[in-house]
Amino acid sequence: MAERKKKDRDFEKLADSVKLTKPGATRAPARLKARVYSALMLAEAAHGKLRDMAETKKAGRELCAFEELVRMAPVNRKLKSANICRLCHARVLAEMLEKPPIYWPHCPYAEFKKG
Ligand SMILES: [Zn+2]
Repeated sequence: MAERKKKDRDFEKLADSVKLTKPGATRAPARLKARVYSALMLAEAAHGKLRDMAETKKAGRELCAFEELVRMAPVNRKLKSANICRLCHARVLAEMLEKPPIYWPHCPYAEFKKG
C-alpha cells in the first residue's frame, strides 16, 4: 500500500511538471481520453484490487452518482472496489461521442468532454 501511494505521488509530480497548454496546441479528443482511461482502469484492475470508493472519497476525489450509491449501499467489499463507471452507459457514450450526454457530476467520463 505504501509503495502504491509513493507511485501515485511520483506520477502526480510528473504530471504537474508537464505543461499542457502550449499556444496553438490541440487537445486530445474526449473520445480518445475516455478510451485511454478505460484501458488504464482495466490494466489496473488486472493487477489487483482497485481502491474502494470510501478510500477514494477520503483521498479527495468526488464520486459520481453511481459510485456514491454503491459506496452507501450494503454490498460486499468486492463491489465497493469495482469500477462502477465502466458498467454504466457513461463509458459507452464517452468512448463513442465527443460531447456525450452525461450530466451527472464527478463521473470521469463526463469530465473528459470539458477539455
Ligand atoms: Zn461514473
